[in-house]
Amino acid sequence: LCNWMLQCYEVLQKIRNFQEEEFTQIIKFTPPLHKQRHQFVKDLVEKYKPKKVADLGCADCSLLRMLKFCSCIEVLAGLDICASVMKEKMHTLSPLPVDYLQPSERSLTVTLHHGSVAHKDPCMLGFDLVTCIELIEHLEESELEKFPEVVFGFMAPSIVVISTPNAEFNPLFPGVIVYRHPDHKFEWNQAQFQSWALETARCYDYSVEFTGVGHPPTGMEKVGFCTQIGVFIRKCPQPGHYTIFPLVINFIYYVAHVYHYVFLYVVKVFKAVYPSLKDEKYLQNAVISEVIFTAQIIKHRIMLKREEYGDDPERKSKFQPSVNRFSDYLGKLVVEKNMESFVSGNEVHIPLATIFSFPKVNRLCGTFEKLCKLIAGKVTLSNDGSAVMDLNNTFYR
Ligand code: SAH
Repeated sequence: LCNWMLQCYEVLQKIRNFQEEEFTQIIKFTPPLHKQRHQFVKDLVEKYKPKKVADLGCADCSLLRMLKFCSCIEVLAGLDICASVMKEKMHTLSPLPVDYLQPSERSLTVTLHHGSVAHKDPCMLGFDLVTCIELIEHLEESELEKFPEVVFGFMAPSIVVISTPNAEFNPLFPGVIVYRHPDHKFEWNQAQFQSWALETARCYDYSVEFTGVGHPPTGMEKVGFCTQIGVFIRKCPQPGHYTIFPLVINFIYYVAHVYHYVFLYVVKVFKAVYPSLKDEKYLQNAVISEVIFTAQIIKHRIMLKREEYGDDPERKSKFQPSVNRFSDYLGKLVVEKNMESFVSGNEVHIPLATIFSFPKVNRLCGTFEKLCKLIAGKVTLSNDGSAVMDLNNTFYR
């Protein structure tokens, strides 16, 4: 039965895409309406900088894919009742090789859950922003009744954004259509949406502002936006029970999960943890390669100087070095801070303090002690540990 329902859903999804294409041939939105809706959410994220964002009814995860590039977000979650549509492109939420080569400073975890917005589940707790883009019109009456309590009462994020079609715009679409999508259970006009939203906001102590995307044609402004949007902001700060509440719920959830599988309404189907410099393992790799890179630049400069000046100290003092601005900068750093690097036989000694004075190394490590700790055993050091040494043409140990 489940498979049959999923197949039906996929067919409906295809019909919907076809219909949307039809619409855009007559009333053309540039950029396309679904992109405008997602851009609206992105702008909201950039304005309020939430760390934890949940997208309910995430479908093919296209909004999540866009939001993963917002640098303020550290936790990103998607929930949908249709696992197959979610799974189709979920691999695109996995980290890419470049994410491992250059780990980001922020941490990012992306999870996808299969379940319904009509059920309270602990995995839905702790979010700053919850987005419900073109979701509510897909809910059955009983689900729509539970929706405000789940989202505003249980999840209680600081911000909720809800978008839904504006029925007043529909007559501008050609042909007789009841709803824009065969799976829509209703489509509200502006007054209906606004009264539902105002009542919900009042019940759960939120304020709400109305806006939308998809402007009506000139002269028809009265019909309003094609997609109407409500942005809800929680009035009171985080509820008092917030810190203890998820722990209690989690406990109940796991007991139920292990013994009875009773409350298992929501199932995790995907999790990706992005490499981050907050993780000591990636920080260490980044520091080691930056230290070696810096040491190689300094070594290169010493070798260049040697070739230019030879070993004659008189010539050296008369010579005005002007290799390039970067090597001048290196020169200043080395001389000003009295941290001279030197060559002795085949060995090159570069004081760690010199390397630490380079902005990128400095920023990555924070303290000199941390630098020493991270490179210990990985980079060749002098006996007293104060300098990086180049033995056999490699700084690596
Ligand atoms: N948010 C998507 C499109 C949503 S279409 C976008 O911005 O492009 C509506 C989605 O809601 C569908 O993927 C559907 O599977 C999902 N949905 C319907 N009822 C649901 C429910 N009770 N709980 C969670 N998701 C639901």
